[in-house]
Amino acid sequence: MESAQPVVVAIDGPSGTGKSSTSKAVAAQLGMSYLDTGAQYRAITWWMVHHGIDVTDPSAIAAVAGKPEIVSGTDPAGPTITVDGVDVAGPIRTDEVTARVSAVSAVPEVRARITELQRSLAGSAARGIVVEGRDIGTTVLPDADVKVFLTASAEARAARRSGELQGVDVHSTRDALLKRDAADAGRKTSPFVKAGDALEVDTTDLTLAQVIECVVTLVEEKRAGK
Ligand code: C5P
Repeated sequence: MESAQPVVVAIDGPSGTGKSSTSKAVAAQLGMSYLDTGAQYRAITWWMVHHGIDVTDPSAIAAVAGKPEIVSGTDPAGPTITVDGVDVAGPIRTDEVTARVSAVSAVPEVRARITELQRSLAGSAARGIVVEGRDIGTTVLPDADVKVFLTASAEARAARRSGELQGVDVHSTRDALLKRDAADAGRKTSPFVKAGDALEVDTTDLTLAQVIECVVTLVEEKRAGK
């Protein structure tokens, strides 16, 4: 029998693995909330750039990390993100933000602030939530009911990303992805690693529909057994 206990799902992995598409689809299919934590780090990065903060200076970032008010809308059919009331869904995807987000997200004061927001959203999701990111299963929600770690070859990831960002060369996309992975994995606070108890799914040769089905099955099994 299905219980009313909300299920918390953590989906971690680098970009280009189908993480966002999978997380959104699973949440929509199962009537759950959805949180894109990368968007939150991008939003705080956008705010820093917009306010002329030197993002190469961790102490300058730390000093203002508490200032921006970041609000995430968690409906998987139309997730939203605002900073101080401004809709930043578009600006957070620019190359300028993408190139700086690893440096900003490495600052402990930024991580503490964003992690608190994430835990509060997860704790108040009455029908459960799918949270995607890079440290969800390890740090943010270590007690998540389902933990998935998505991977794919660097070539497959670059090809998918170049497809999304039309006209961008695959080789430069691949180099940029690998550089960002290395920065995220090498930081001191909450580095990007697979949680020991996460199920690793290599999506290189899988269709998006197959990955979605795999995660939906895991969540349904968990719901049934809870
Ligand atoms: O997933 P996305 O590419 O939007 O993430 C942007 C960046 O945000 C990552 O490269 C990483 O620096 C940071 N991030 C993080 N922890 C998360 C999610 C994203 O540090 N949970």
